[in-house]
Amino acid sequence: MRLRWTLTLAFVALAVLQVALVVPLAVRSLSALLGRQLDKRIDQQLVAVDTEAARLEDDIRHRMDELAASQALEDVARDAARVPAPPHVTTAASNLMTPRGLDVLALLDDEGRTLSSGHLPARLGEPDDPLFAVTRQPARKVTPALVEVSTADGLAQQPAIVVARPVDYGDRRLWAVGGVRLGQVHAETLARLTGARVEISVGKQLIAAAGDGGVGPVVRTRAVGEAATITLLFSRADFYTTRTQLLGAFMALALFGLFLSVALGLVVSIRVSRPVDALTAAAKEIAAGTPGVMVDPRLASGELRALVETFNRMTTDLKGATDKLVASERIAAWQEVARRLAHEIKNPLTPIRMSLETLLAASQRGPLDERFKGLFTESAKAVLEEVDRLKRIVDEFSQFARMPKPQVADLDLTATVQAVMSLYAPHGGVTYESVLTPRVKVSADRDLLTQVLVNLIKNAEEAMPQGGRVTVRVQVDGALAVMEVEDEGPGVPAELKARLFEPYVTTKAQGTGLGLAIAHRIAQEHGGRLEVFDGATKGARFRLSVPRLG
Ligand code: ADP
Repeated sequence: MRLRWTLTLAFVALAVLQVALVVPLAVRSLSALLGRQLDKRIDQQLVAVDTEAARLEDDIRHRMDELAASQALEDVARDAARVPAPPHVTTAASNLMTPRGLDVLALLDDEGRTLSSGHLPARLGEPDDPLFAVTRQPARKVTPALVEVSTADGLAQQPAIVVARPVDYGDRRLWAVGGVRLGQVHAETLARLTGARVEISVGKQLIAAAGDGGVGPVVRTRAVGEAATITLLFSRADFYTTRTQLLGAFMALALFGLFLSVALGLVVSIRVSRPVDALTAAAKEIAAGTPGVMVDPRLASGELRALVETFNRMTTDLKGATDKLVASERIAAWQEVARRLAHEIKNPLTPIRMSLETLLAASQRGPLDERFKGLFTESAKAVLEEVDRLKRIVDEFSQFARMPKPQVADLDLTATVQAVMSLYAPHGGVTYESVLTPRVKVSADRDLLTQVLVNLIKNAEEAMPQGGRVTVRVQVDGALAVMEVEDEGPGVPAELKARLFEPYVTTKAQGTGLGLAIAHRIAQEHGGRLEVFDGATKGARFRLSVPRLG
Protein backbone atom coordinates (compact mmCIF):
# COMPACT_ATOMS: atom_id res chain seq x y z
CA MET A 1 0.00 0.00 0.00
CA ARG A 2 2.79 2.37 0.87
CA LEU A 3 4.47 1.67 -2.45
CA ARG A 4 1.28 2.61 -4.25
CA TRP A 5 1.06 5.99 -2.53
CA THR A 6 4.75 6.64 -2.91
CA LEU A 7 4.51 6.01 -6.64
CA THR A 8 1.38 8.12 -7.03
CA LEU A 9 2.94 10.94 -5.04
CA ALA A 10 6.05 10.75 -7.19
CA PHE A 11 3.91 11.12 -10.32
CA VAL A 12 2.01 14.05 -8.82
CA ALA A 13 5.22 15.72 -7.68
CA LEU A 14 6.64 15.33 -11.16
CA ALA A 15 3.53 16.79 -12.73
CA VAL A 16 3.42 19.69 -10.26
CA LEU A 17 7.11 20.36 -10.84
CA GLN A 18 6.50 20.39 -14.56
CA VAL A 19 3.60 22.81 -14.19
CA ALA A 20 5.60 24.95 -11.76
CA LEU A 21 8.45 25.17 -14.25
CA VAL A 22 6.37 25.60 -17.37
CA VAL A 23 3.69 28.03 -16.15
CA PRO A 24 5.99 30.97 -15.22
CA LEU A 25 7.92 30.47 -18.45
CA ALA A 26 4.71 30.37 -20.44
CA VAL A 27 3.35 33.44 -18.64
CA ARG A 28 6.54 35.36 -19.39
CA SER A 29 6.75 34.47 -23.06
CA LEU A 30 3.02 34.96 -23.48
CA SER A 31 3.23 38.43 -21.95
CA ALA A 32 6.23 39.26 -24.13
CA LEU A 33 4.41 38.07 -27.24
CA LEU A 34 1.26 40.01 -26.41
CA GLY A 35 3.43 43.06 -25.53
CA ARG A 36 5.10 42.89 -28.94
CA GLN A 37 1.72 42.63 -30.60
CA LEU A 38 0.47 45.65 -28.67
CA ASP A 39 3.59 47.63 -29.69
CA LYS A 40 3.04 46.71 -33.30
CA ARG A 41 -0.57 47.82 -33.17
CA ILE A 42 0.44 51.10 -31.53
CA ASP A 43 3.07 51.68 -34.22
CA GLN A 44 0.36 51.22 -36.84
CA GLN A 45 -1.88 53.72 -35.05
CA LEU A 46 0.97 56.21 -34.91
CA VAL A 47 1.41 55.89 -38.66
CA ALA A 48 -2.29 56.81 -38.89
CA VAL A 49 -1.58 59.86 -36.71
CA ASP A 50 1.23 60.90 -39.05
CA THR A 51 -1.01 60.38 -42.10
CA GLU A 52 -3.69 62.52 -40.52
CA ALA A 53 -1.10 65.22 -39.78
CA ALA A 54 0.10 65.15 -43.38
CA ARG A 55 -3.52 65.37 -44.58
CA LEU A 56 -4.12 68.39 -42.36
CA GLU A 57 -0.95 70.06 -43.68
CA ASP A 58 -2.00 69.42 -47.28
CA ASP A 59 -5.40 70.77 -46.50
CA ILE A 60 -3.98 73.98 -45.03
CA ARG A 61 -1.56 74.35 -47.92
CA HIS A 62 -4.40 74.05 -50.46
CA ARG A 63 -6.63 76.52 -48.67
CA MET A 64 -3.83 79.02 -48.39
CA ASP A 65 -2.87 78.49 -52.06
CA GLU A 66 -6.43 79.21 -53.03
CA LEU A 67 -6.44 82.29 -50.78
CA ALA A 68 -3.16 83.55 -52.20
CA ALA A 69 -4.54 83.30 -55.72
CA SER A 70 -7.84 85.00 -54.86
CA GLN A 71 -8.95 88.35 -56.25
CA ALA A 72 -10.03 89.43 -52.78
CA LEU A 73 -6.50 89.19 -51.45
CA GLU A 74 -5.20 91.05 -54.49
CA ASP A 75 -7.68 93.90 -53.70
CA VAL A 76 -6.43 94.01 -50.10
CA ALA A 77 -2.82 94.18 -51.30
CA ARG A 78 -3.67 97.02 -53.61
CA ASP A 79 -5.49 99.04 -50.93
CA ALA A 80 -3.19 98.26 -48.05
CA ALA A 81 -0.80 101.01 -49.05
CA ARG A 82 -3.40 103.67 -48.69
CA VAL A 83 -3.40 105.83 -45.57
CA PRO A 84 -5.62 105.50 -43.74
CA ALA A 85 -6.34 102.01 -44.87
CA PRO A 86 -9.87 101.52 -46.01
CA PRO A 87 -12.00 99.44 -43.60
CA HIS A 88 -12.19 96.44 -45.90
CA VAL A 89 -8.44 96.03 -45.43
CA THR A 90 -8.59 95.81 -41.63
CA THR A 91 -11.49 93.36 -41.65
CA ALA A 92 -10.12 91.42 -44.65
CA ALA A 93 -8.51 88.66 -42.56
CA SER A 94 -11.76 87.81 -40.78
CA ASN A 95 -13.71 87.84 -44.01
CA LEU A 96 -11.19 85.73 -45.90
CA MET A 97 -10.54 83.27 -43.08
CA THR A 98 -13.93 81.89 -42.17
CA PRO A 99 -15.24 80.77 -45.58
CA ARG A 100 -11.99 78.89 -46.20
CA GLY A 101 -12.26 76.88 -43.01
CA LEU A 102 -9.17 78.54 -41.50
CA ASP A 103 -9.12 79.77 -37.95
CA VAL A 104 -5.78 81.57 -38.02
CA LEU A 105 -5.09 84.28 -40.57
CA ALA A 106 -2.92 87.38 -40.34
CA LEU A 107 -2.01 89.80 -43.09
CA LEU A 108 1.40 91.25 -42.31
CA ASP A 109 3.39 93.95 -44.04
CA ASP A 110 6.98 93.36 -45.02
CA GLU A 111 8.14 94.36 -41.53
CA GLY A 112 5.85 92.03 -39.70
CA ARG A 113 3.24 94.56 -38.63
CA THR A 114 -0.31 93.35 -38.57
CA LEU A 115 -2.47 94.81 -41.29
CA SER A 116 -5.38 92.64 -40.46
CA SER A 117 -5.88 89.67 -38.10
CA GLY A 118 -8.72 87.22 -38.33
CA HIS A 119 -8.02 85.38 -35.07
CA LEU A 120 -6.96 88.47 -33.04
CA PRO A 121 -8.37 91.66 -34.62
CA ALA A 122 -6.98 93.70 -31.70
CA ARG A 123 -3.45 93.11 -32.92
CA LEU A 124 -3.97 95.60 -35.76
CA GLY A 125 -0.85 97.69 -36.47
CA GLU A 126 1.31 95.69 -34.05
CA PRO A 127 4.02 93.24 -35.00
CA ASP A 128 3.20 89.55 -34.74
CA ASP A 129 6.59 87.90 -34.29
CA PRO A 130 5.64 84.25 -34.08
CA LEU A 131 3.63 84.48 -37.29
CA PHE A 132 6.15 86.69 -39.02
CA ALA A 133 8.80 84.03 -38.18
CA VAL A 134 6.82 81.65 -40.35
CA THR A 135 7.48 83.84 -43.40
CA ARG A 136 11.19 82.97 -42.99
CA GLN A 137 10.42 79.33 -43.62
CA PRO A 138 11.04 77.85 -47.06
CA ALA A 139 8.15 78.47 -49.40
CA ARG A 140 4.98 76.45 -48.81
CA LYS A 141 6.35 74.79 -45.70
CA VAL A 142 3.60 74.14 -43.26
CA THR A 143 4.84 74.68 -39.70
CA PRO A 144 3.53 74.47 -36.18
CA ALA A 145 3.40 77.75 -34.38
CA LEU A 146 1.98 79.27 -31.21
CA VAL A 147 -0.54 81.94 -31.98
CA GLU A 148 -2.05 84.44 -29.62
CA VAL A 149 -5.81 84.55 -29.38
CA SER A 150 -8.11 86.36 -27.06
CA THR A 151 -10.14 84.26 -24.70
CA ALA A 152 -12.49 85.03 -21.85
CA ASP A 153 -9.42 85.03 -19.54
CA GLY A 154 -7.49 87.40 -21.77
CA LEU A 155 -4.78 86.57 -24.25
CA ALA A 156 -3.77 82.94 -24.57
CA GLN A 157 -1.28 81.08 -26.66
CA GLN A 158 -2.70 78.31 -28.80
CA PRO A 159 -0.94 75.84 -31.04
CA ALA A 160 -1.66 76.05 -34.72
CA ILE A 161 -0.44 74.65 -37.99
CA VAL A 162 0.24 77.50 -40.35
CA VAL A 163 1.84 78.36 -43.66
CA ALA A 164 2.95 81.73 -45.05
CA ARG A 165 2.23 83.09 -48.54
CA PRO A 166 3.73 86.25 -50.06
CA VAL A 167 1.30 88.56 -51.82
CA ASP A 168 3.00 91.02 -54.17
CA TYR A 169 1.38 94.12 -55.56
CA GLY A 170 3.67 96.39 -57.57
CA ASP A 171 6.81 96.62 -55.48
CA ARG A 172 4.95 96.00 -52.23
CA ARG A 173 5.02 92.65 -50.61
CA LEU A 174 2.48 91.52 -48.04
CA TRP A 175 2.33 88.26 -46.19
CA ALA A 176 -0.69 86.15 -45.59
CA VAL A 177 0.04 83.68 -42.73
CA GLY A 178 -2.81 81.36 -41.99
CA GLY A 179 -3.77 77.89 -40.86
CA VAL A 180 -5.71 75.89 -38.40
CA ARG A 181 -5.65 75.90 -34.60
CA LEU A 182 -5.18 72.58 -32.96
CA GLY A 183 -8.06 71.84 -30.66
CA GLN A 184 -10.87 69.56 -29.61
CA VAL A 185 -11.80 68.61 -33.21
CA HIS A 186 -8.32 67.25 -33.84
CA ALA A 187 -8.16 65.47 -30.53
CA GLU A 188 -11.45 63.77 -31.36
CA THR A 189 -10.38 62.85 -34.91
CA LEU A 190 -7.15 61.33 -33.65
CA ALA A 191 -8.93 59.56 -30.80
CA ARG A 192 -11.35 58.07 -33.31
CA LEU A 193 -8.56 57.03 -35.65
CA THR A 194 -6.33 55.43 -33.02
CA GLY A 195 -8.79 54.28 -30.39
CA ALA A 196 -6.52 55.94 -27.84
CA ARG A 197 -7.04 58.86 -25.51
CA VAL A 198 -5.53 61.91 -27.17
CA GLU A 199 -4.37 64.93 -25.23
CA ILE A 200 -3.09 68.10 -26.86
CA SER A 201 -1.11 70.34 -24.55
CA VAL A 202 1.07 73.39 -24.62
CA GLY A 203 3.78 73.01 -22.06
CA LYS A 204 1.91 71.71 -19.04
CA GLN A 205 -1.43 73.16 -20.06
CA LEU A 206 -4.03 70.84 -21.50
CA ILE A 207 -5.70 72.35 -24.56
CA ALA A 208 -7.94 69.52 -25.70
CA ALA A 209 -8.57 65.89 -24.85
CA ALA A 210 -10.71 63.09 -26.24
CA GLY A 211 -11.10 59.34 -25.99
CA ASP A 212 -10.59 56.86 -23.21
CA GLY A 213 -7.16 55.79 -21.99
CA GLY A 214 -8.55 52.57 -20.51
CA VAL A 215 -6.51 50.37 -18.19
CA GLY A 216 -2.75 50.78 -17.60
CA PRO A 217 -2.23 52.67 -20.82
CA VAL A 218 0.89 52.73 -22.98
CA VAL A 219 1.88 56.39 -23.38
CA ARG A 220 3.37 57.80 -26.62
CA THR A 221 4.02 61.44 -27.33
CA ARG A 222 4.33 63.36 -30.55
CA ALA A 223 5.81 66.86 -30.58
CA VAL A 224 4.05 69.34 -32.81
CA GLY A 225 7.18 71.35 -33.47
CA GLU A 226 7.79 73.41 -30.34
CA ALA A 227 4.21 74.53 -30.26
CA ALA A 228 2.47 71.61 -28.67
CA THR A 229 2.66 68.02 -27.56
CA ILE A 230 0.18 65.35 -28.50
CA THR A 231 0.02 62.58 -25.95
CA LEU A 232 -1.62 59.30 -26.93
CA LEU A 233 -2.69 56.85 -24.23
CA PHE A 234 -3.30 53.38 -25.66
CA SER A 235 -5.36 51.15 -23.41
CA ARG A 236 -3.93 47.84 -22.30
CA ALA A 237 -7.41 46.42 -21.58
CA ASP A 238 -7.37 44.13 -24.62
CA PHE A 239 -3.87 43.02 -23.76
CA TYR A 240 -4.96 42.12 -20.23
CA THR A 241 -8.14 40.39 -21.41
CA THR A 242 -6.31 38.28 -23.99
CA ARG A 243 -3.57 37.48 -21.51
CA THR A 244 -6.10 36.43 -18.87
CA GLN A 245 -8.00 34.31 -21.37
CA LEU A 246 -4.87 32.61 -22.68
CA LEU A 247 -3.56 32.08 -19.18
CA GLY A 248 -6.92 30.66 -18.15
CA ALA A 249 -6.82 28.24 -21.05
CA PHE A 250 -3.24 27.37 -20.24
CA MET A 251 -3.99 26.80 -16.56
CA ALA A 252 -6.97 24.64 -17.48
CA LEU A 253 -4.68 22.62 -19.71
CA ALA A 254 -2.08 22.37 -16.97
CA LEU A 255 -4.73 21.28 -14.46
CA PHE A 256 -6.01 18.70 -16.90
CA GLY A 257 -2.44 17.50 -17.34
CA LEU A 258 -2.06 17.34 -13.59
CA PHE A 259 -5.26 15.37 -13.24
CA LEU A 260 -4.12 13.09 -16.05
CA SER A 261 -0.78 12.44 -14.40
CA VAL A 262 -2.45 11.71 -11.06
CA ALA A 263 -4.78 9.25 -12.79
CA LEU A 264 -1.89 7.78 -14.74
CA GLY A 265 0.19 7.64 -11.58
CA LEU A 266 -2.57 5.76 -9.80
CA VAL A 267 -3.01 3.31 -12.65
CA VAL A 268 0.73 2.67 -13.01
CA SER A 269 1.26 2.42 -9.28
CA ILE A 270 -1.64 0.01 -8.91
CA ARG A 271 -0.23 -2.07 -11.73
CA VAL A 272 3.19 -2.07 -10.10
CA SER A 273 2.11 -2.31 -6.48
CA ARG A 274 -0.53 -5.00 -6.90
CA PRO A 275 1.95 -7.76 -7.81
CA VAL A 276 4.49 -6.35 -5.36
CA ASP A 277 1.88 -6.38 -2.56
CA ALA A 278 0.86 -9.90 -3.54
CA LEU A 279 4.52 -10.97 -3.57
CA THR A 280 5.08 -9.36 -0.16
CA ALA A 281 2.01 -11.07 1.30
CA ALA A 282 3.05 -14.41 -0.19
CA ALA A 283 6.61 -14.02 1.11
CA LYS A 284 5.22 -13.20 4.58
CA GLU A 285 3.01 -16.28 4.50
CA ILE A 286 5.95 -18.45 3.50
CA ALA A 287 8.06 -16.91 6.25
CA ALA A 288 5.20 -17.67 8.68
CA GLY A 289 5.48 -21.33 7.69
CA THR A 290 2.96 -21.89 4.87
CA PRO A 291 4.96 -23.50 2.10
CA GLY A 292 4.14 -23.33 -1.61
CA VAL A 293 2.16 -20.04 -1.58
CA MET A 294 1.72 -18.86 -5.18
CA VAL A 295 0.99 -15.43 -6.67
CA ASP A 296 -1.33 -15.17 -9.65
CA PRO A 297 0.93 -14.13 -12.57
CA ARG A 298 -2.05 -12.46 -14.30
CA LEU A 299 -1.74 -9.68 -11.72
CA ALA A 300 1.41 -8.46 -13.45
CA SER A 301 2.89 -7.93 -16.85
CA GLY A 302 6.35 -7.57 -18.32
CA GLU A 303 9.30 -7.81 -15.92
CA LEU A 304 6.98 -7.97 -12.91
CA ARG A 305 5.26 -10.98 -14.41
CA ALA A 306 8.64 -12.64 -14.92
CA LEU A 307 9.42 -11.83 -11.28
CA VAL A 308 6.12 -13.36 -10.12
CA GLU A 309 6.74 -16.46 -12.22
CA THR A 310 10.27 -16.80 -10.85
CA PHE A 311 8.87 -16.36 -7.35
CA ASN A 312 6.28 -19.07 -7.99
CA ARG A 313 8.94 -21.41 -9.38
CA MET A 314 11.09 -20.76 -6.34
CA THR A 315 8.29 -21.42 -3.87
CA THR A 316 7.33 -24.59 -5.73
CA ASP A 317 10.95 -25.75 -5.68
CA LEU A 318 11.24 -24.74 -2.07
CA LYS A 319 8.07 -26.61 -1.15
CA GLY A 320 9.26 -29.69 -3.01
CA ALA A 321 12.62 -29.52 -1.30
CA THR A 322 11.02 -28.92 2.10
CA ASP A 323 8.57 -31.77 1.61
CA LYS A 324 11.39 -34.10 0.62
CA LEU A 325 13.48 -32.96 3.53
CA VAL A 326 10.66 -33.44 6.01
CA ALA A 327 9.78 -36.81 4.53
CA SER A 328 13.34 -38.07 4.55
CA GLU A 329 13.86 -36.71 8.06
CA ARG A 330 10.82 -38.59 9.26
CA ILE A 331 11.84 -41.74 7.44
CA ALA A 332 15.34 -41.51 8.83
CA ALA A 333 13.94 -40.95 12.30
CA TRP A 334 11.62 -43.88 12.40
CA GLN A 335 14.06 -46.14 10.56
CA GLU A 336 16.47 -45.39 13.34
CA VAL A 337 13.81 -46.30 15.87
CA ALA A 338 13.08 -49.51 14.04
CA ARG A 339 16.73 -50.42 13.85
CA ARG A 340 17.18 -49.83 17.56
CA LEU A 341 14.08 -51.77 18.42
CA ALA A 342 15.23 -54.70 16.33
CA HIS A 343 18.64 -54.58 17.96
CA GLU A 344 17.22 -54.42 21.47
CA ILE A 345 14.89 -57.31 20.92
CA LYS A 346 17.43 -59.37 19.06
CA ASN A 347 20.17 -59.05 21.67
CA PRO A 348 18.62 -61.23 24.41
CA LEU A 349 17.21 -63.68 21.92
CA THR A 350 20.49 -65.33 20.99
CA PRO A 351 21.61 -66.12 24.63
CA ILE A 352 18.10 -67.33 25.47
CA ARG A 353 18.15 -69.61 22.51
CA MET A 354 21.69 -70.87 23.29
CA SER A 355 20.96 -71.68 26.95
CA LEU A 356 17.72 -73.37 26.07
CA GLU A 357 19.52 -75.44 23.47
CA THR A 358 22.16 -76.38 26.07
CA LEU A 359 19.48 -77.28 28.63
CA LEU A 360 17.67 -79.32 26.10
CA ALA A 361 20.82 -81.13 25.11
CA ALA A 362 21.72 -81.84 28.77
CA SER A 363 18.29 -83.11 29.57
CA GLN A 364 18.50 -85.50 26.68
CA ARG A 365 21.92 -86.80 27.68
CA GLY A 366 21.57 -87.86 31.41
CA PRO A 367 18.87 -89.94 33.13
CA LEU A 368 16.46 -87.50 34.80
CA ASP A 369 13.14 -87.70 36.50
CA GLU A 370 10.74 -88.65 33.77
CA ARG A 371 8.09 -86.06 34.69
CA PHE A 372 10.59 -83.23 34.85
CA LYS A 373 12.06 -84.46 31.66
CA GLY A 374 8.71 -84.43 29.93
CA LEU A 375 7.73 -81.04 31.38
CA PHE A 376 11.11 -79.50 30.64
CA THR A 377 11.09 -80.65 27.08
CA GLU A 378 7.60 -79.32 26.57
CA SER A 379 8.43 -75.97 28.10
CA ALA A 380 11.68 -75.64 26.25
CA LYS A 381 9.90 -76.35 23.02
CA ALA A 382 7.30 -73.72 23.82
CA VAL A 383 10.01 -71.19 24.66
CA LEU A 384 11.78 -72.02 21.45
CA GLU A 385 8.59 -71.56 19.54
CA GLU A 386 8.01 -68.21 21.21
CA VAL A 387 11.55 -67.13 20.54
CA ASP A 388 11.18 -68.14 16.93
CA ARG A 389 8.00 -66.10 16.70
CA LEU A 390 9.71 -63.13 18.30
CA LYS A 391 12.55 -63.47 15.88
CA ARG A 392 10.14 -63.65 12.98
CA ILE A 393 8.41 -60.50 14.10
CA VAL A 394 11.70 -58.73 14.54
CA ASP A 395 12.91 -59.97 11.16
CA GLU A 396 9.76 -58.69 9.58
CA PHE A 397 10.23 -55.40 11.34
CA SER A 398 13.85 -55.17 10.20
CA GLN A 399 12.78 -55.98 6.75
CA PHE A 400 10.27 -53.19 6.93
CA ALA A 401 12.93 -50.79 8.19
CA ARG A 402 14.86 -51.52 5.04
CA MET A 403 11.67 -51.35 2.98
CA PRO A 404 12.54 -51.94 -0.66
CA LYS A 405 11.42 -49.64 -3.48
CA PRO A 406 7.88 -50.45 -4.61
CA GLN A 407 7.64 -52.72 -7.64
CA VAL A 408 5.47 -50.46 -9.78
CA ALA A 409 3.40 -51.63 -12.72
CA ASP A 410 0.45 -50.16 -14.62
CA LEU A 411 -2.52 -50.93 -12.47
CA ASP A 412 -6.28 -50.50 -12.50
CA LEU A 413 -6.80 -48.97 -9.06
CA THR A 414 -10.59 -49.45 -9.31
CA ALA A 415 -10.21 -53.15 -10.01
CA THR A 416 -7.65 -53.57 -7.23
CA VAL A 417 -9.89 -51.88 -4.66
CA GLN A 418 -12.91 -53.81 -5.89
CA ALA A 419 -11.03 -57.10 -5.47
CA VAL A 420 -10.08 -56.22 -1.88
CA MET A 421 -13.61 -55.03 -1.02
CA SER A 422 -15.13 -58.29 -2.24
CA LEU A 423 -13.45 -59.94 0.78
CA TYR A 424 -15.34 -57.78 3.26
CA ALA A 425 -18.79 -58.78 4.44
CA PRO A 426 -20.85 -56.97 7.09
CA HIS A 427 -20.01 -58.15 10.62
CA GLY A 428 -20.38 -56.87 14.17
CA GLY A 429 -22.56 -53.96 13.01
CA VAL A 430 -19.96 -52.76 10.50
CA THR A 431 -21.08 -52.39 6.87
CA TYR A 432 -19.02 -51.59 3.78
CA GLU A 433 -19.86 -49.39 0.86
CA SER A 434 -17.81 -48.90 -2.31
CA VAL A 435 -18.18 -45.85 -4.51
CA LEU A 436 -15.87 -46.56 -7.43
CA THR A 437 -15.10 -44.53 -10.54
CA PRO A 438 -14.37 -47.13 -13.19
CA ARG A 439 -10.92 -47.70 -14.73
CA VAL A 440 -8.80 -45.31 -12.74
CA LYS A 441 -5.25 -46.20 -13.83
CA VAL A 442 -2.11 -45.71 -11.80
CA SER A 443 1.46 -46.87 -11.87
CA ALA A 444 1.90 -48.57 -8.49
CA ASP A 445 2.81 -51.60 -6.43
CA ARG A 446 -0.42 -53.59 -6.09
CA ASP A 447 0.54 -55.29 -2.81
CA LEU A 448 1.59 -52.04 -1.13
CA LEU A 449 -1.62 -50.23 -2.15
CA THR A 450 -3.63 -53.21 -0.90
CA GLN A 451 -1.69 -53.02 2.36
CA VAL A 452 -2.62 -49.33 2.73
CA LEU A 453 -6.29 -50.03 2.01
CA VAL A 454 -6.48 -52.94 4.44
CA ASN A 455 -4.75 -50.87 7.08
CA LEU A 456 -7.14 -47.92 6.66
CA ILE A 457 -10.17 -50.24 6.78
CA LYS A 458 -8.80 -51.91 9.92
CA ASN A 459 -8.42 -48.49 11.59
CA ALA A 460 -11.94 -47.50 10.48
CA GLU A 461 -13.37 -50.69 11.98
CA GLU A 462 -11.45 -50.16 15.19
CA ALA A 463 -12.76 -46.59 15.41
CA MET A 464 -16.34 -47.93 15.38
CA PRO A 465 -16.55 -50.71 18.01
CA GLN A 466 -20.28 -50.06 18.19
CA GLY A 467 -20.59 -50.54 14.42
CA GLY A 468 -21.14 -48.18 11.50
CA ARG A 469 -20.44 -47.76 7.85
CA VAL A 470 -17.05 -47.82 6.13
CA THR A 471 -17.15 -46.05 2.77
CA VAL A 472 -14.41 -46.70 0.25
CA ARG A 473 -14.10 -44.44 -2.79
CA VAL A 474 -11.99 -44.40 -5.92
CA GLN A 475 -12.12 -41.20 -7.94
CA VAL A 476 -10.22 -38.83 -10.18
CA ASP A 477 -9.06 -35.39 -9.09
CA GLY A 478 -7.30 -33.64 -11.97
CA ALA A 479 -4.04 -35.47 -12.58
CA LEU A 480 -4.49 -37.51 -9.40
CA ALA A 481 -6.05 -40.84 -8.65
CA VAL A 482 -7.69 -40.80 -5.23
CA MET A 483 -8.55 -43.64 -2.86
CA GLU A 484 -10.54 -42.68 0.22
CA VAL A 485 -11.65 -44.55 3.32
CA GLU A 486 -14.24 -42.84 5.48
CA ASP A 487 -15.82 -44.00 8.70
CA GLU A 488 -18.47 -42.87 11.15
CA GLY A 489 -16.31 -43.12 14.26
CA PRO A 490 -15.31 -40.25 16.57
CA GLY A 491 -12.79 -38.82 14.07
CA VAL A 492 -9.15 -37.94 14.71
CA PRO A 493 -8.61 -35.42 17.51
CA ALA A 494 -7.04 -32.19 16.24
CA GLU A 495 -3.97 -32.48 18.45
CA LEU A 496 -3.26 -35.93 17.04
CA LYS A 497 -3.62 -35.00 13.38
CA ALA A 498 -0.18 -33.40 13.06
CA ARG A 499 1.65 -36.47 14.41
CA LEU A 500 -0.66 -39.14 13.06
CA PHE A 501 1.74 -40.37 10.38
CA GLU A 502 4.76 -40.62 12.65
CA PRO A 503 5.77 -44.10 13.80
CA TYR A 504 4.70 -45.31 17.24
CA VAL A 505 1.88 -42.81 17.52
CA THR A 506 -1.04 -44.79 18.86
CA THR A 507 -3.99 -44.35 21.19
CA LYS A 508 -4.74 -48.07 21.35
CA ALA A 509 -3.61 -50.38 24.15
CA GLN A 510 -2.54 -53.08 21.69
CA GLY A 511 -1.58 -50.68 18.89
CA THR A 512 1.90 -50.39 17.37
CA GLY A 513 1.39 -46.93 15.85
CA LEU A 514 3.04 -48.22 12.71
CA GLY A 515 0.05 -48.74 10.41
CA LEU A 516 -0.39 -45.13 9.28
CA ALA A 517 3.35 -44.51 9.28
CA ILE A 518 3.76 -47.36 6.84
CA ALA A 519 0.79 -46.24 4.74
CA HIS A 520 2.19 -42.73 4.63
CA ARG A 521 5.56 -43.97 3.54
CA ILE A 522 4.01 -46.11 0.82
CA ALA A 523 2.12 -43.04 -0.43
CA GLN A 524 5.36 -41.05 -0.58
CA GLU A 525 7.20 -43.86 -2.34
CA HIS A 526 4.54 -43.62 -5.04
CA GLY A 527 5.05 -39.87 -5.44
CA GLY A 528 1.72 -39.25 -3.73
CA ARG A 529 0.44 -38.34 -0.29
CA LEU A 530 -1.76 -39.59 2.49
CA GLU A 531 -3.94 -37.03 4.26
CA VAL A 532 -6.57 -37.07 6.95
CA PHE A 533 -9.75 -34.97 6.91
CA ASP A 534 -12.89 -34.84 8.94
CA GLY A 535 -15.56 -37.13 7.56
CA ALA A 536 -18.90 -35.98 6.17
CA THR A 537 -20.53 -36.84 9.49
CA LYS A 538 -18.25 -36.92 12.52
CA GLY A 539 -15.81 -39.62 11.50
CA ALA A 540 -12.44 -39.52 9.81
CA ARG A 541 -11.68 -39.55 6.08
CA PHE A 542 -8.27 -40.79 4.94
CA ARG A 543 -7.31 -39.86 1.43
CA LEU A 544 -4.49 -41.44 -0.56
CA SER A 545 -3.67 -39.59 -3.78
CA VAL A 546 -1.13 -40.71 -6.37
CA PRO A 547 -0.40 -39.52 -9.91
CA ARG A 548 -2.90 -40.85 -12.43
CA LEU A 549 -2.03 -42.57 -15.71
CA GLY A 550 -3.56 -41.36 -18.96
P1 ADP B 1 -2.44 -48.29 15.49
O1 ADP B 1 -3.68 -48.58 14.74
O2 ADP B 1 -1.61 -49.42 15.75
O3 ADP B 1 -2.67 -47.43 16.69
P2 ADP B 1 -1.95 -46.50 13.32
O4 ADP B 1 -0.72 -45.81 12.84
O5 ADP B 1 -2.71 -47.27 12.33
O6 ADP B 1 -1.53 -47.37 14.54
O7 ADP B 1 -2.92 -45.40 13.92
C1 ADP B 1 -2.39 -44.44 14.80
C2 ADP B 1 -3.53 -43.80 15.58
O8 ADP B 1 -4.33 -42.99 14.71
C3 ADP B 1 -4.48 -44.70 16.20
O9 ADP B 1 -4.04 -45.16 17.45
C4 ADP B 1 -5.74 -43.84 16.34
O10 ADP B 1 -5.66 -43.07 17.52
C5 ADP B 1 -5.63 -42.94 15.17
N1 ADP B 1 -6.52 -43.37 14.11
C6 ADP B 1 -6.18 -44.07 12.99
N2 ADP B 1 -7.25 -44.28 12.21
C7 ADP B 1 -8.30 -43.68 12.81
C8 ADP B 1 -9.70 -43.54 12.50
N3 ADP B 1 -10.22 -44.09 11.40
N4 ADP B 1 -10.49 -42.87 13.37
C9 ADP B 1 -9.97 -42.32 14.48
N5 ADP B 1 -8.67 -42.42 14.83
C10 ADP B 1 -7.85 -43.09 14.01
